[in-house]
Amino acid sequence: MFKVFKFGGASIKDAQAIRNIAMILRQSSYKRLVIVLSAMGKNTNALEAILHARRTQSNDLPLLLENLKTFHLNICHELFDTCPKDLQLILESYFSKLIDHLDQYADAAYDTHYDQTVVFGELMATSILAYYLKEAGFDLVHADVRELIHTDRSFRAARVDWDKTVDAFHKLVQLETASIILIQGFIGGTSDGFSTTLGREGSDYSAAIAAYCLQATDVTIWKDVPGLLNADPKRFEKTVKLHQLSYQEAIELAYYGASVLHPKTLKPLQNKNIPLYIRSFLNPQNPPTVIGHQSEMDMAVPSFIVKDNQMLVSIHTRDASFMDEQRLHYLFGVLHRIGIHAHLIQISALSLSICSDEVKTKLQALLTELRDDYFVRYNTELQLFTVRHYNGYEQMFDEFVKGKEVLLEQRSRLTLQLVLRN
Ligand code: ASP
Ligand code: MG
Repeated sequence: MFKVFKFGGASIKDAQAIRNIAMILRQSSYKRLVIVLSAMGKNTNALEAILHARRTQSNDLPLLLENLKTFHLNICHELFDTCPKDLQLILESYFSKLIDHLDQYADAAYDTHYDQTVVFGELMATSILAYYLKEAGFDLVHADVRELIHTDRSFRAARVDWDKTVDAFHKLVQLETASIILIQGFIGGTSDGFSTTLGREGSDYSAAIAAYCLQATDVTIWKDVPGLLNADPKRFEKTVKLHQLSYQEAIELAYYGASVLHPKTLKPLQNKNIPLYIRSFLNPQNPPTVIGHQSEMDMAVPSFIVKDNQMLVSIHTRDASFMDEQRLHYLFGVLHRIGIHAHLIQISALSLSICSDEVKTKLQALLTELRDDYFVRYNTELQLFTVRHYNGYEQMFDEFVKGKEVLLEQRSRLTLQLVLRN
């Protein structure tokens, strides 16, 4: 029976963090384990900057590349005194592939170019951890997840081909008997050899995919926070840990923007009834947040979720005719086509208002599309504030809202949403 552990960027940001992973593994009990690893620290951001520099022909490119390389080699030096020759060769070869791909796909669409280059963050990270853990005596095989997670060609938001992926995982675990299988998060591959990515912060989802394919007993996401908190500690003074919640409730929280979990993570786990633990890699002995089918605790505390960079768009008919079903049908078709995903919807006799992530190009496309028959008003740089289970906690969110203008408010029995301007 497999367990799955996922370690994110913060848990492998330096040599000390890598030693800590080994310590966690020594203290954990498992028969077989899949480890899913993100790029080290903020290196996906660094790779995005490299890609941007390449596409804009910026003079910063050599320096950015040098920094990325130094970052990884420094960690190896710290872990092994001198970087072992064979590990150095592996890293060098990823490095020259990165440079090749930066050039080779320079004229391709941005998303294609993106996926052929940012994947090296994860590939270098697993190479280093694999080497370290083997040296430390762990029975481990290092696999290239691009040959396991099969996807279509929707670059940067690749969709998983589940049949092929399940098949590939099964073949791998029959072939390889090592007790630990180490794979990259976030990335996948097409059958014709392209690299793909599953969306930023996608390693949680990779862990869920592996767990689904192998019918794992559980998944643990190791984080720098003690579990799932009811609010972002960077924004709220008092936060509490959610000890237990249902898949459904966790999906709701991720949907409204709780950034701790990649929103696609939960579905595969729910389908196979695989519990998800979120625990601290700084205090591994502390109890985790448990997400599973139990829902008794869902209402125990309110959750506060803030999403920045929102826009509120109100669409009105030009001839003051009603916002009827036929018009709504048409308008939602347009929104879907442009890729505007509503976080909140309000309909009145003459208008449709939606709050969504602010993307200037999409807004422009919407304005152009509706120009003839509708007039459209919009506000940008807004905040969407969602409170789950708000009853009895009005005081806490009054505090947050104080001094801000409320542009729109919506309440259901369980959820309160406000669109705010600072
Ligand atoms: N390294 C990727 C990112 O930073 C994936 C992840 O961390 O989950 O988005
Ligand atoms: Mg992450």
